[in-house]
Amino acid sequence: MTDNDPTEPTTERTRVRRAADRGRYDTETVHSILDDEQVAHVGFVVDGSPVVIPMLYGRDGGDLWLHGSVASRLVRRLSEGVEVCVEVTIVDAYVMARSAFHHSMNYRSVVVFGTAELVTDDDEKLHGLRAITDHLAPGRWDEVRGPDRRELRQTAVLRLRIDEVSAKVRGHGVVDDEEDLGLDVWAGLVPIARTLGAPVPDGDLAPDVVMSPSIVALVESSGN
Ligand SMILES: Cc1cc2nc3c(=O)[nH]c(=O)nc-3n(C[C@H](O)[C@H](O)[C@H](O)COP(=O)(O)OP(=O)(O)OC[C@H]3O[C@@H](n4cnc5c(N)ncnc54)[C@H](O)[C@@H]3O)c2cc1C
Repeated sequence: MTDNDPTEPTTERTRVRRAADRGRYDTETVHSILDDEQVAHVGFVVDGSPVVIPMLYGRDGGDLWLHGSVASRLVRRLSEGVEVCVEVTIVDAYVMARSAFHHSMNYRSVVVFGTAELVTDDDEKLHGLRAITDHLAPGRWDEVRGPDRRELRQTAVLRLRIDEVSAKVRGHGVVDDEEDLGLDVWAGLVPIARTLGAPVPDGDLAPDVVMSPSIVALVESSGN
């Protein structure tokens, strides 16, 4: 991935061609989008058919971490070294135009191509699991009981280098045709805000257990 030139992709298949001015290839943009979202869509081919599966993920430097049960088809297939395409999208606003044609959304999205590597070293597995757990709420890993040997054996961890990657960003207002600007139709942006609700304690929680700092920070970071 190029650090310095946000306008140049590393490979031709990551070159954004439609609305090319929205393409970004710099590390900062790619990482900031990955860090702001929680769910990735992981695409790969099984028995000749494409399948796309939603997953949690973590990012640590230039690595994207995925995990799952060692028994899952997804893990078995990715461990074989098949090509994978991972997509992450954040929607920021509805773009409501005067014409049906120019309706859109403001968004920030990332598409990564590559081959995931099955991690076998226990310390590296723990490193990946920490990245995934802390991606949900920074600091959470250090607050909870870590996996024991049996849990670690049952969990597969996969690493995907964020090398062949593009971001695409739409972050502007309505673009209507000149001749439609006088139409008697409301046009503009409807922002999409994401907030977290008040945490609901687990029913089995002992009454003297206080809320973990990572959860307090998570909720506060969403504006509540
Ligand atoms: C927000 C979110 C986060 C998740 N995070 C993880 C994660 O980090 N790790 C992990 O292993 N799993 C995660 N899951 C579950 C994951 O989506 C898969 O269900 C699971 O990984 C099994 O995949 P598989 O291809 O091995 O399953 P299989 O059961 O072999 O899939 C067979 C078929 O079941 C259907 N299917 C499978 N999963 C889904 C689904 N989620 N929704 C609808 N249909 C489905 C599809 O038709 C698929 O072809 C997450 C799910 C969600 C919604």
